[in-house]
Amino acid sequence: MKSVQKNIEKLRDELHLHSYNYYVLDSPVISDYDFDIKLRDLINLENKFPEFYDENSPTNRVGGAVIKNFNSIKHDFPMYSLDNSYSKEDLEIWNDRIFKNIGDGNLEFLCELKFDGVSINLTYENGKLIKAVTRGDGVQGDDVTENIKTIRTIPLKLKGSFPNKFQIRGEIVIEKKDFLEMNKKRLIEGLDPYMNPRNTASGSLKLQDSSEVSTRPLKCFLYQIVTYEENCKTQNDYLISALDWGFNISNTYKLCNNIEDVYKYINYWELRKNDLNYEIDGIVIKVNDINYQKELGFTSKYPRWSIAYKYKAEQISTKLLSVSYQVGRTGAITPVANLEPVLLGGTYVKRASLHNEDQINKFDLHINDLVSVEKGGEIIPKIVGVDLNKRDLNSKKIKFIENCPSCFKILSRNESESHHYCLNYYNCPPQITGRIQHFISRKALDINGLGKETIELLYKGGLISNYSDLYNLKRDDLMTLERMAEKSINNIFIGLEESKKIPFERVLFALGIRYVGQTVSKKLAKEFKSIDNLMTQKLDDLLLVDEIGDRISESIIDFFKIDQNIYIINKLKELGLQFEIMEKSTQKHNILSHNIFVISGIFKNHSRDELKNIIEDNGGKVSSSISSKTNFLLGGDNIGPSKLLKVNKLGIPIISENDLIGMTNSKL
Ligand code: AMP
Ligand code: ZN
Repeated sequence: MKSVQKNIEKLRDELHLHSYNYYVLDSPVISDYDFDIKLRDLINLENKFPEFYDENSPTNRVGGAVIKNFNSIKHDFPMYSLDNSYSKEDLEIWNDRIFKNIGDGNLEFLCELKFDGVSINLTYENGKLIKAVTRGDGVQGDDVTENIKTIRTIPLKLKGSFPNKFQIRGEIVIEKKDFLEMNKKRLIEGLDPYMNPRNTASGSLKLQDSSEVSTRPLKCFLYQIVTYEENCKTQNDYLISALDWGFNISNTYKLCNNIEDVYKYINYWELRKNDLNYEIDGIVIKVNDINYQKELGFTSKYPRWSIAYKYKAEQISTKLLSVSYQVGRTGAITPVANLEPVLLGGTYVKRASLHNEDQINKFDLHINDLVSVEKGGEIIPKIVGVDLNKRDLNSKKIKFIENCPSCFKILSRNESESHHYCLNYYNCPPQITGRIQHFISRKALDINGLGKETIELLYKGGLISNYSDLYNLKRDDLMTLERMAEKSINNIFIGLEESKKIPFERVLFALGIRYVGQTVSKKLAKEFKSIDNLMTQKLDDLLLVDEIGDRISESIIDFFKIDQNIYIINKLKELGLQFEIMEKSTQKHNILSHNIFVISGIFKNHSRDELKNIIEDNGGKVSSSISSKTNFLLGGDNIGPSKLLKVNKLGIPIISENDLIGMTNSKL
């Protein structure tokens, strides 16, 4: 028995080391395949000999624990904020104050990047990670230990000779390329993209299912050791030690002998911060000597021995050439500034959003004005100022248009709204094509093969004027369009046919009623069951539904008042689209009830949506992440490796699409 235990420990140690080589040092010494084999061996042994369980085993990297409520834990040492500085003068004042406090000592500064992520406090005892707590309000935070264990750059077991007990602080980030990748996937899945890496990292730490957290590309940079007894004399020594113990310490820090050198560091990174893989929101300057740090101490909010230097958001001046106006499918008008192209944060900026009339008036914009444009993260650039000294006296003030740029009808602006609207519902071309484009979009009826441009061509060619016309298209009509291949035409007809199976809630969303998004559509479908029922509701009845307020209810009433809408709905009904919900009783079977499936990989015979429908039609549930509650992994080719690892660990069976069909006897 002893030898089994030894074997397990040996495998754990090896895997900890390989993981460190791979994730922290970025230089693996064994292949991924060999790593997987070792991991699988360990999983098997651990399953066979549960008496040797170790909560810090490398097998716990894939998560599994589900936490309903995160315990609030008081920090042993408060997690302070940092005072901010924005200029050389600010820093000199800070420097002078420190000199005054400590006398004429030999003052060194340690400069680090200010990682823009979520801060975390880790406690290690006897070389093992035992607690991970968020900053919270600085006095107490949430215990997110299980989720933190899934982050590969955070060691579960330390190397070398470390203090028995200490805490270390760091920042959890998502790298820019991983963030883009996440959003690309979300768009493919028809989900809204995440706003920015920091919020996504922060949200990830609060997920209840740690196995879901393990799929998030979280990384951690450590920068501050907090000890019960002093182990090192300087911040620099602490960083070097932490590196030896296996922590991920960014090599961007620098020891500076005076404030001039600090300034050089600031300038150096100002030029290069956009090239970093992750986002920073400035730099952090720390007094290097720990004794001086102690002498300086803390104010009620900040350490006196440290300060942040914040870079200004990047701005650049350029000429405002003109303003154009876009008409959305609901008739809302959005002004867009056309700018003389200018390089900002690595990309050319040609346009900036102006949102609405108030925004134009705020800056009293004139044509040819020199405007300052700012780009924050991945948000569309915006105009943040105008240089009035450079204004040409003869330049024309920008006046918000009064007529629709497309159909020329007078625009209307409701007092309570910030947007202007074109009310020409029936005949305003961008509204008509916008509605059809919305109808076919992924989250709505997902009609393959028809893109935005095709819709515009079909509309211009007089072949369609509303979404129900799509179903009357003939093969010859499509052949006349430029660049239309035989295959795409087939796809369009398949897509149209398939759309007849799409459930009522999505059809309702596809109709494009203003303010009726996906969630509201689901609610309405559940509440009223059919379009016929929904159509006859009075304002007061609609208002009774949870979370449906005046704005939505009025918009629904208005929509059904329009004759054309009723006419189109009737046509779609005749064509066979779903205008009522399939009640549970109409489900083919309940053969899969209480079973939770996760779908992964590429399938030969069915689309993912079809498979999802088969499962749900038979009473099963589909979830996006694997947890101990998952019953089956429905796998095609190329199942995601982390999913594979997890199902193996949890002993979840993998079934093919044919297996599923066999289980349900479902025919499609
Ligand atoms: P603030 O939230 O602006 O008061 O700044 C303080 C926060 O900066 C800390 O709580 C950390 O989360 C974060 N931070 C990022 N990088 C560092 C670093 N190198 N040293 C100290 N704090 C950092
Ligand atoms: Zn119009």
